[in-house]
Amino acid sequence: MQAYIGLGSNLNNPAQRLISALTALQRLPGIRLLHHSRLFSSAPVGPQDQPDFVNAVAALDCHCTPLELLHTLQALELAAGRQRIRHWGERTLDLDILLLDERRIDTPELQVPHPQMIYRAFVLLPLMDIAPNAHLPDGTALSSFLEKVTDQQLSPLTELDCNALIE
Ligand code: AMP
Repeated sequence: MQAYIGLGSNLNNPAQRLISALTALQRLPGIRLLHHSRLFSSAPVGPQDQPDFVNAVAALDCHCTPLELLHTLQALELAAGRQRIRHWGERTLDLDILLLDERRIDTPELQVPHPQMIYRAFVLLPLMDIAPNAHLPDGTALSSFLEKVTDQQLSPLTELDCNALIE
């Protein structure tokens, strides 16, 4: 199963936190890191009195079930000392499943494609870095949602090459 996941952080050295999360992901049994985007800096959605976020998207090859992947990502969030101070607020590490092959999942615990992904420049732009042809299960190109998020400021944070972290 190929998965695209979104990574975000805005606390305690967020860029380093994302790099650590990408490194941790590729060390997990049953998961292979295929590609990752550049790191992007974005203004927060929601409360504005919080630091900017750093975001990235990664493509994984997973030999596990969707729920096993979700639980693995949640364990990484916890290991990063995840703090959730308020809704839409600061977080040390947020890992979301964006796409899983062409699957649709709609359960209370897991929704795929991630229902918010089409509204978020901080997901769509990093995704375009590594998968310009990515689409929803019904075939809609995800690039078609970019024009609706042009008001959301996003800039490449580092000169880190795509895939520099792949071992
Ligand atoms: P958040 O950390 O705010 O992104 O939300 C975490 C909650 O969202 C968890 O309780 C998950 O069970 C649920 N969830 C539903 N769909 C997804 C998804 N595609 N990726 C990550 N978490 C999800």
